[in-house]
Amino acid sequence: PQSTIPQETKSICPYCGTGCGVIIQHDGRRILGVRGDPDHPANFGRLCTKGRTLHQTVHAPDRATRPLRRDRQGKERPLHWDAALGLAAKRFAEIMRAHGPRAVAFYVSGQLSTEDYYVVNKLAKGLIGTNHIDTNSRLCMASAVAGYKASLGMDSVPACYEDIAHADCIFIIGANPAYAHPVMFRRIEDAKVQNPDLRIIVADPRKTATTSIADLHLPLKPGTDVALLHGLLHILVWDDLIDRDFIRTHTEGWAALKQRVQEYTPKQVAELCELPEALIREAALCFGRARAALSLWCQGLNQSAHGTDKNTALINLHLATGQIGRPGAGPFSLTGQPNAMGGREVGGMPNLLPGHREITNPEHRAEIARLWGIEAIHPEPGLTAVPLFEAIERGEIKAVWIACTNPVVSLPDQQQVVRALQAAEFVVVQDAYHPTETGEYADLILPAASWGEREAIVTNSERRISHLRQAVPPPGQARPDWQIFRDFALALGKALDAAGGEPAREARGQDLDPAREQARSHAELAQRLFEFPDAESVFQEYRETTRGRDLDISGLSLALLDREGPQQWPFPAGATRGQARLYTDGIFPTPSGRARFLAPDYAPVAEEIDARYPLRLTTGRLRDQWHTLSRSGQVASLFRHVPEPLLDIHPSDAGRLPEGSLARITSRRGSVVVRIRHSTLQQPGTVFLPMHFGSRFAPSGMANVLTLPALDPVSKQPELKHAAVRVEPA
Ligand code: SF4
Repeated sequence: PQSTIPQETKSICPYCGTGCGVIIQHDGRRILGVRGDPDHPANFGRLCTKGRTLHQTVHAPDRATRPLRRDRQGKERPLHWDAALGLAAKRFAEIMRAHGPRAVAFYVSGQLSTEDYYVVNKLAKGLIGTNHIDTNSRLCMASAVAGYKASLGMDSVPACYEDIAHADCIFIIGANPAYAHPVMFRRIEDAKVQNPDLRIIVADPRKTATTSIADLHLPLKPGTDVALLHGLLHILVWDDLIDRDFIRTHTEGWAALKQRVQEYTPKQVAELCELPEALIREAALCFGRARAALSLWCQGLNQSAHGTDKNTALINLHLATGQIGRPGAGPFSLTGQPNAMGGREVGGMPNLLPGHREITNPEHRAEIARLWGIEAIHPEPGLTAVPLFEAIERGEIKAVWIACTNPVVSLPDQQQVVRALQAAEFVVVQDAYHPTETGEYADLILPAASWGEREAIVTNSERRISHLRQAVPPPGQARPDWQIFRDFALALGKALDAAGGEPAREARGQDLDPAREQARSHAELAQRLFEFPDAESVFQEYRETTRGRDLDISGLSLALLDREGPQQWPFPAGATRGQARLYTDGIFPTPSGRARFLAPDYAPVAEEIDARYPLRLTTGRLRDQWHTLSRSGQVASLFRHVPEPLLDIHPSDAGRLPEGSLARITSRRGSVVVRIRHSTLQQPGTVFLPMHFGSRFAPSGMANVLTLPALDPVSKQPELKHAAVRVEPA
């Protein structure tokens, strides 16, 4: 008989990138409660409303518990796992035989564990030979990654949470951490109490819970961040608040940037950003005179058609003032999802390979091919999220495997995503919850284990790796995601052999020929590539790929994480603790060892307002909800804060629309109908709609019906934060 005495198992909250430690209370069968882990350095026992109610999300009626075959009329019938994976393998093998391996794709999630990510990445790039594997992290951190790489030479966050307590100026731009990273925000509140001299600047078009603690709020016009950042630097140069020694010794590209920011006079910037000139000047002096300045940002900079430019312009401020690589100083992007960083570490994007390697780099491909024991990896990066769904609609990609994400609600131009899934020949949706909006277009639903039901590692916003332990078994037949990918790989090997011929022409730039891989058959190759008896064996293989790389964790083991607690990377062999801050020696991982100033020009938003669409729509998050509500939507109390999608509109823009009335919001892509809320937190001319609600929770209130698929040219992150709309009575 099972024990009924509550037991406690350490884990991590699966919501935001703060990465709070939690202690799961359970009886070995069911999760009964949750409390904050007082020993975890991300939260020291604190949890927000979402974390505190996690236990209510586990044994929910909407959990996916068995594989389901689904026909296009929506009729579902249960399948055994072998039959389900056999069916998926047969369909993938048929499509690969007819159209080549790049006719199949994967779209995964920053909520997968590092092990899940590693195995699906190896499945796509190592066994199948398609680099079409992207993740919803494309909607989250892609511009920050591109900015770090361009400016600092690698994809890594230089600062850590402790820096909040050491800073005397915190500059928050394009983020509302009071809602989106609440426990991290508590640290900022604490720092403000401890240090009355701490000055907080918040640049955000709206007044938010975060702006309420700001000493200076800059309500800039949406999308004008680059102009503001250049304007701040202009003042720093003019007032000689730059660090000439640091610029001379540790950077390159200063002359071009200095010339660029000369054009951004306070007067011009004030006009562009629609801000008082005095406020811009005050913010610049606050940053420039700080002993230690820390910048925090998230989707407000990243989800933009100029997201990379916004990131590099912000990093410029830190390099020009030498505010990096020491306590309290540095640019610190807040990761949206719990393991977006872990996904990048294992190469879970179409341009990446494990250990922060690039697909386009022949040496990197050869290193991973050697580690995996395969002949080669295809040299061309796969498609990123938005182009991937466009390729599905065009019929170029015929099968897509979607895991742990709900693109029908979260991608821009929602109707395009629906058309794509309707056009696909075969759609697999693997999720811990069913139904979801995306599941409505699936041919096969696969049930995944969730929080508390599997062992894994994840990396939070400050590069800290934590070990999640399993407390209870998954419900019904649900399995950990990495196991599903492994078992599918084994089934696919057999199906490829059964399909005969040369099923995977063009794979990895050549025929996928098992003989070249020293295997007699695809089945044997799959067997060799996916010999993972448990999650730890996956972790160990991944760890080997990091040896000698920037994120080297060859000194880490699960036993060490259990003994010493969560650790920041890098953690090379022989290390006794992780590295809190990067670039403390002023040397950067660029060919010259110097950080790079980039000098982008300001460019306006992708879709300007006009007479037909006169209002600026910004989208964002609510305090008590997460993503598309698959998990947080299971908890009734989380709807108390905001029960439905409300359009916040300034009274001067509301016209004939009374408070609480239904309004139709229309963009060039479609319309939604939601209730309106008069709010002076909005600037006149700008309206706000939360992004969480899909058709299951608000049949006509999906924000991404309105958004557009304009992409940043480098990061390929879409401009989810701005669209031109009109608002009229419904
Ligand atoms: Fe979870 Fe983020 Fe809340 Fe922490 S702050 S409890 S990680 S949602």
